[in-house]
Amino acid sequence: MLRGAASVTVLSHINPDADTIGSALALALALERAGTPVRVSFPAPHQLPRSLRLLPGRHLLCPPEEVPADSEVAVAVDCSSSDRLGELAGVLDAAGTALVVDHHSTNTGFGDAAVVDPHAQSTTVIVERILRAWGAPVDADIAKCLYAGLVTDTGGLRRADTTSLRMTADLLETGFDGPELLRGLMDSHPFAWLPMLGTVLGRARLDPEAVGGRGMVHTAIHVEDARGVEWEEVESVIDIVRTSEEAEVAVVLKERASSAAAPRTRWSVSLRSRGSVDVAAVARSLGGGGHRAAAGYSAAGTHDDVLVELRAALGG
Ligand code: 5GP
Ligand code: MN
Ligand code: MN
Repeated sequence: MLRGAASVTVLSHINPDADTIGSALALALALERAGTPVRVSFPAPHQLPRSLRLLPGRHLLCPPEEVPADSEVAVAVDCSSSDRLGELAGVLDAAGTALVVDHHSTNTGFGDAAVVDPHAQSTTVIVERILRAWGAPVDADIAKCLYAGLVTDTGGLRRADTTSLRMTADLLETGFDGPELLRGLMDSHPFAWLPMLGTVLGRARLDPEAVGGRGMVHTAIHVEDARGVEWEEVESVIDIVRTSEEAEVAVVLKERASSAAAPRTRWSVSLRSRGSVDVAAVARSLGGGGHRAAAGYSAAGTHDDVLVELRAALGG
């Protein structure tokens, strides 16, 4: 379908991460090299996170309002459901063919055709397979995009399986500087991240028996804590909170800016588990989704309301 398409639009999820943008740019660069008109977009706010500005292919990005209305094929990458596309969900409906490439166990089965593999450790693993099947050459720029998704979704290769490690080796052979890209993606923060962390980690609490006799660690990040830092800095906090060894489940409540139309406090909630609890199922029961060990959902109400609802969903 991609090879024969007259034009293609590739769509990434809201609050984009390196896997959704890496997948989209790798696919788009390969299509561009093959002479196919292609655009990449993601929902508002259309501001690429600082770390993702390190990736090649950004000339193919356009804001939602400039997405061509008449693409023959639209591809959603790293999206478990069409609501992850925000206002761009209609682009998928309007396209001649809607393709879905994803690795979430909670994928809802949307789209006309889909490649969904919950065993793939990143969506870029599936994109690499598609490019190989197509016979599209993977040059250093495309490899960088694929690597970005793989190293970040595996926690800097900490959780990498043998398929991921073999693919990492193949990608590095194209000649780009992997450690430098990884440092930029995962180990670089503005100074303002440190005082934000101090405040937010100081507020962390451990409920020692919240999850079937095992612990739950949780904290919250308020809008005022995060002044002067980008959203991706807020997203990185869960990776520190989750290291608490007493906790089976780690939770970070991230407050969203409120509006006059929606005055209740709104949150994006990040869940992580050490493996015995399927947080994807918990997130799905609360309207979200994700993977067994990493998932998320949106909630509204006070900090306490959200924790009470979550404890009930965890069965604690
Ligand atoms: P994070 O905690 O890093 O925001 O997200 C962890 C995982 O949960 C990601 O794989 C992401 O796709 C998924 N996720 C986070 N928030 C939502 C949500 O609101 N809806 C759905 N369907 N998935 C989410
Ligand atoms: Mn993602
Ligand atoms: Mn992913």
